[in-house]
Amino acid sequence: MANIIVIGAGMGGMACAARLASKGHAVRVLEHNETWGGKLGYAEHAEYKFDTGPSLLTLPAVYRDLFLKTGAALEDSIDIVDLETAFRYQFADGTVLKMPGTGIGRCAEAIGDSLGGTSADQWRNFMRRAAQMWSVTRKPFLESELHGLRSLLALSWRVNDIRTIAPTKSLRDLASHYLSDPRLVTLVDRYATYTGSDPRQAPAALATVPYIEQMFGAYHVNGGLRELGRALYERAYSIGVQFEFGCTVVNIATEPNVSGVTLEDGRFIAADIVVANSDASNVYQHLLSPVAQERTKSAKKSLAKATPSLSGFVILQAMTGKTEDFEHHNVFFPENYDDEFDSIFGIGKKVTPVADPTIYICSPNDAKMAPEGNESWFMLINAPRHDPDNGVNWSDPELKDSYTEQILSALQKLGLKTEGRIALQRAITPDELERNTLAPGGSIYGTSSNGMRSAFLRPENVTKIPNLYLVGGSSHPGGGLPLVGMSAEIVANHIGRA
Ligand SMILES: Cc1cc2nc3c(=O)[nH]c(=O)nc-3n(C[C@H](O)[C@H](O)[C@H](O)COP(=O)(O)OP(=O)(O)OC[C@H]3O[C@@H](n4cnc5c(N)ncnc54)[C@H](O)[C@@H]3O)c2cc1C
Repeated sequence: MANIIVIGAGMGGMACAARLASKGHAVRVLEHNETWGGKLGYAEHAEYKFDTGPSLLTLPAVYRDLFLKTGAALEDSIDIVDLETAFRYQFADGTVLKMPGTGIGRCAEAIGDSLGGTSADQWRNFMRRAAQMWSVTRKPFLESELHGLRSLLALSWRVNDIRTIAPTKSLRDLASHYLSDPRLVTLVDRYATYTGSDPRQAPAALATVPYIEQMFGAYHVNGGLRELGRALYERAYSIGVQFEFGCTVVNIATEPNVSGVTLEDGRFIAADIVVANSDASNVYQHLLSPVAQERTKSAKKSLAKATPSLSGFVILQAMTGKTEDFEHHNVFFPENYDDEFDSIFGIGKKVTPVADPTIYICSPNDAKMAPEGNESWFMLINAPRHDPDNGVNWSDPELKDSYTEQILSALQKLGLKTEGRIALQRAITPDELERNTLAPGGSIYGTSSNGMRSAFLRPENVTKIPNLYLVGGSSHPGGGLPLVGMSAEIVANHIGRA
């Protein structure tokens, strides 16, 4: 049995802790915040409840596997709801596309009904290619340890596999190849943002993201996605994981071997193994001694080559009354989607908040989240990260207020009636996300997938320092609840049984 410390009680940290405890290890989770969940945040106002982080669950199988392997079925703890309509998309020309929850055939039909022409067949072909990409990358890449570019070489022995994933093409290139309607290309572009990226730079293999959503379903968790975090916390706790909240790790002792961590209050806690769920760039830049930084300098170099992921500007609104023609997930696309990515990543212009952004509103169809006849809106606007020196200073309270106003007036232009309906409003800026989760700049997904080699620049789960591991969205295979769960499994499998 090893004494293992997990730094951080995000979903990756808790998932890994539970798996390790079920393998017989003594596991202690040290969390900076007073509660578990990290980016899986939560807020409430009277009877209105809000997820402030994830609002969409895909690939619940990852968590089903975790729960089964650590005791009992996930469905014993939470109620996962299959959404009849996954998304209501509204394009700049006013066209509305209601995408069904599960089933590529159903989705293709809905696309054909809304966009006409041969769009349904084009979508089927695009999804066929995405299915091939999924089967080529799932096992050898997503579910396996990453070993830098060696992982790409390991894939490359089968020339057809390489052709399938089209490593030199961007997501935009692939979508434009299969889909002639620019609105469908816009729809696919949005999936690049699920990894915090620009579709013009993100790899074509991200076509697997809509494939997964349509093939395996888009889900809600009754009471909010935070319930998934609660269930995971309770499972980990019930099988012996110890949690300590309100403590920040400031150093990992690695010389000559991993021996524990030092907390901000000066305490040293001994351990044989350390698993860091904190952002990988913080680990490499701030939690290691200069000697350890030297030992891991190649990882630091790779991180420096990667572009940080985008962040998000969130507005929570407790709304009285019901909105007409509204679904659980609603996306309003702008006229000029490229400008969103140019503004966020500073391409051909200064990094700046997006003037006319895509507006995503989650209005959960969930009686536990809003009083009857009312709505809890979680609005997410893609935003540049907090970077006062080279980009946007989101700590500026005037910016917070003026940008909120700007978004509200955009809602009016879209015809959404909000006047007199807002019982409470609260905005959360990228710098608050940074403070709440210790994610540098409030980047949602660590590094983005911008650049064809981006996946191979992601920090590896097994570091160069024996017995020091990285888990969670800033390391391989990436952010989002399913991938974070996969990273936990990779790390727990590597550490093995007690
Ligand atoms: C607004 C928003 C919307 C999102 N939407 C979705 C979605 O719809 N679907 C989806 O699947 N994903 C979504 N995501 C992404 C998803 O939330 C994350 O990928 C996932 O929750 C990350 O989990 P994690 O374990 O990697 O890290 P985190 O959640 O970042 O947890 C890390 C934890 O470590 C703690 N920590 C860090 N450093 C230290 C230290 N030195 N000492 C002690 N503790 C420390 C932090 O306080 C934090 O609790 C969204 C995220 C955000 C912010």
